[in-house]
Amino acid sequence: MATMHVVQVSRPDGPFETVERQIPEPGAGWVRIRVQACGICHSDSLVKEGTFPGIQYPRVPGHEVAGVIDSVGSGVASWQPGQRVGVGWNGGYCGHCEHCRRGDLFACVTGRATGITYDGGYAEYMLAHATAVALMPAELAPVEAAPLMCAGVTLFNALRNSGARPGDVVAVLGLGGLGHLGVQYAAKMGFYVVGIARGKDKEPLACELGASAYLDSQSQDPAAELLRLGGARVIL
Ligand SMILES: [Zn+2]
Ligand SMILES: [Zn+2]
Repeated sequence: MATMHVVQVSRPDGPFETVERQIPEPGAGWVRIRVQACGICHSDSLVKEGTFPGIQYPRVPGHEVAGVIDSVGSGVASWQPGQRVGVGWNGGYCGHCEHCRRGDLFACVTGRATGITYDGGYAEYMLAHATAVALMPAELAPVEAAPLMCAGVTLFNALRNSGARPGDVVAVLGLGGLGHLGVQYAAKMGFYVVGIARGKDKEPLACELGASAYLDSQSQDPAAELLRLGGARVIL
């Protein structure tokens, strides 16, 4: 039987353990993904520390997955082996509960979350529900693409659903793991992007990523400065 390496947490507050497991077979409605890269999200600490209700251990964390479909279970019409895909926090949905029928797939009563209610991407292979999988351009490098599945989509969806229009002022507060992506998305969407961080050292990065202006919140009053620009339509 072919085996794989996974990194699991076997109890709340337990250590990360690299263990060998059998490569799982996808059941009906599920696919198997050969993981190429998996980002590390702060929410993975919920598994490590046991602070998310109902986690069953051992659990393999990881919900910023980039990989290739490797095997497809029965009843899966939408995916085939060889496709480049990603998996994020949403571990799939039923499509017919009250929330799904309203389009709120994230609130599906099945409550599936990748790396939380089933094993995630800290592994050579993982199973994912077919509805959890997103097609990913093959030319995106896996290591760069993986963090877009949670960190990236958090900013991207916030911006595209914000109601802001090109030319509006969008402020991005903090230029860390999420903020540096937010500046890039916002600039590409045509907003007037204002990066905000403490001190001057993030200014070159903000401008390089596409910010039109930078505010040092230690030496400037960001609210007053944003008002001077006409007010921010969105503050991320
Ligand atoms: Zn996350
Ligand atoms: Zn549902």
